[in-house]
Parts: sequence; structure tokens; C-alpha cells
Amino acid sequence: MKAAITSFSIPSLLSKNELTDLLRSSGANERQLFARAAEIKRKFVGNKVYLRGLIELSNRCRKDCLYCGIRCSNKAVYRYSLSCETVMEAVRRAWQRGFGSVVFQSGEQTSDRFIREIEKMVRETKRISDGALAITLSCGEQREKTYRRWFENGADRYLLRIETASEALYKKLHPQDGKHSFSQRMKALEQLDKIGYQVGTGVMIGLPFQTPEMLADDLLFMKRIDIDMCGMGPYLEHPDTPLYAFRDQLLPPERRFNLGLKMVALLRLLMPDINIAATTALQALDLEGREKAIAVGANVIMPNITPPEERKAYLLYENKPLFAEDDEEELARWEQRLRAMGLQIGYHLPGNSTHYRPAQLRRGDR
Ligand code: SAH
Ligand code: SF4
Repeated sequence: MKAAITSFSIPSLLSKNELTDLLRSSGANERQLFARAAEIKRKFVGNKVYLRGLIELSNRCRKDCLYCGIRCSNKAVYRYSLSCETVMEAVRRAWQRGFGSVVFQSGEQTSDRFIREIEKMVRETKRISDGALAITLSCGEQREKTYRRWFENGADRYLLRIETASEALYKKLHPQDGKHSFSQRMKALEQLDKIGYQVGTGVMIGLPFQTPEMLADDLLFMKRIDIDMCGMGPYLEHPDTPLYAFRDQLLPPERRFNLGLKMVALLRLLMPDINIAATTALQALDLEGREKAIAVGANVIMPNITPPEERKAYLLYENKPLFAEDDEEELARWEQRLRAMGLQIGYHLPGNSTHYRPAQLRRGDR
């Protein structure tokens, strides 16, 4: 792999110090980083951008993460759960429009009813697409047997952000009530991998108390646990959350955005063949944030296809973009913008991570 990459001086095996320096870089060094990441991306994942239709199933959540607008203590939120029928309508429309994959995301719920509903949606999605639509779940921490049950019913991928690889910072961002445990989150990632999911994780960037050294550790963490996909984006404050009290410590939006771009570029250097999403949080800070992330390493976009009424109630952070993204016009706009960048939408393609090999096979190697 490394032999093919020779035209720039930034190496692809980077130490914590080198990563930290690059996260702090500007001017020519920063431009070189972005150019190198773009080149690696072209070589390893090509010129396709894959679509995932994001459906926000429910904003009910048992957790109380100090940064999140839909945390259970926020009583100002109107709570909803989409019915299986509503979700399937959105899935069908996405399938007809040429999406090759959908993401079901939700606040964390562990009731039998919730588990059954997800199972039904997964089966139904596979049924209506003859098994072709790939499914990512992002429904928080569950019991191992729940993860297994959803996998056996057809879920392909699971996205569970570690949020930060620093246990000390994780503790500052979550209540210490037994429900928000760093080690439990790590264990969940291991279980998902063992079961055979394509595993995705990610972090928030520009959090209060977060240093560039911690972000470098985040990158090395993702490399070490050998993820298949990543969704990470800037932290965005929400007024009805405890972390809002620390907003005066945040980097200004442009710098936070720029740090997000550098994280994407550096992860592309460290893990040339994984899938990296250009996330909505990037777009919240810069209208062209997703395009900019694609230019420096991301290869996945996740248009929000949640019905509009509920989309308004799934507010994890302030200024979340809310417009419809699954209509023909919006896709045509994406096509235009990507074509101008020399890229194409991978219509009807699941866009699996080429990095992925199930744990069972990896064990067979030994
Ligand atoms: N409940 C699930 C999935 C939904 S939340 C879970 O927590 O895993 C999805 C992601 O939204 C979280 O992982 C977190 O990284 C992100 N998020 C929450 N609040 C945020 C904020 N204020 N700014 C940026 N991202 C946020
Ligand atoms: Fe719930 Fe996820 Fe928000 Fe935490 S980040 S409060 S688990 S929705």
C-alpha cells in the first residue's frame, strides 16, 4: 500500500506528534495535507460517492449525554417514534430514487417493543429491495443478543461513536450514573465487530476541554480498533444542554470546521480504504461543508430522508440543516456539484467498506 504513495512528503504512518502538528497546521502544510488526502482517496476508494438515506426513527432516549439536544432531561422536546409503515414509505422512496443503502438512527431505547420494531424494519427493508439495500443501524448501546438478533435479520453495519477516545473527557461529557460508561461503549464496539457487522465509530470535534493531542489519540484509536467506517463531525452547542455553559471555551465556527476537515483528511491518510462520511454537522458550520469534506477524503453522504415533521424534532444541536434531501431536485443538485469535482454518485450501490473483512475470516487468518 505504502509503495504507491510517493508524491508528497507526508507519510501515511503518522505518530501522535505528527498528527498533532498537522491538526495545528495552516498555510502550505495544511494545503499539502489536504492534497495528499485527496490523492490517497482517489487511489483507494475511487471517484464514487455513496448515498445513505438517513432516517431518524425516534428521538426518545434513555440517556442524558450532556451535549445532546434530545437527552432525556430536556423536557422541552416533543418526542416521537416513527411507525414501521412511515419508515418503509421513506425506504421505498429512497430505493426508487437510487439509494443503495439506508441508515436507521435513534435515541437509545432498550424496550422489547423497540427491539422488535427495528427487527421488523430491517426485515422489511431487505424484503422490498430483494436484499439489495444495505442497512446501517445507529441505535446506541444494546445487549449483545440484541445486536446479534438485528444482524441475523439482515442489518449489515452499525455506527456507534466513541465520542472521544479519552476516558477522562468522556467522563466530563456524560453523567456518572451507571448508564454512561466508557468501558461499556468500548465493549459494545468489540461485540459488534465479533458478530460480523461492518463497524463504524467516530468522535465529536472541537468539544470543550478537548485538545489537539486528544484528537490525535482519537485518530489512532480508530486505526487501532480497525474500523470499517467513520462518521465524525464538529461539536455544535445546544442551548438546552448542560454543556452549553462552556460555549465561551469553544473554537469559533470556522476554526472548528477547519479542524473537522483536517480530522477527515488525516483519517483518510491513516486508513486509506475505509468509508468516511461527510456529516451534516460539517454542513451546519459551512453550507458547503460536506463538499469540502468530500474533496479532502470523505466518500459517503447521508441525505436526511426523515419525514419533515419529525425531522424538526430530532435536534441534536443548534442550526441543524432541515431541508428535504431525497427529492429529485436535491439529488440532481448533488450530481452537478459532484460532477464538477470529477466525482459520481454510486446509484443503487451498497457502497460497502472495501476495508471490511468479517472478524470470523480474520480469525481464520491466524
Ligand atoms: N443515540 C445514538 C445515536 C443517535 S445520536 C448514540 O448516541 O449513539 C448520534 C450522534 O450525534 C452521537 O453519537 C453524537 O456524536 C452526535 N451528537 C449528539 N449531540 C451532538 C452535538 N451537540 N453536536 C454534535 N454532534 C452531536
Ligand atoms: Fe441519546 Fe445518543 Fe443523544 Fe446520547 S447522543 S442523549 S444516547 S440520542
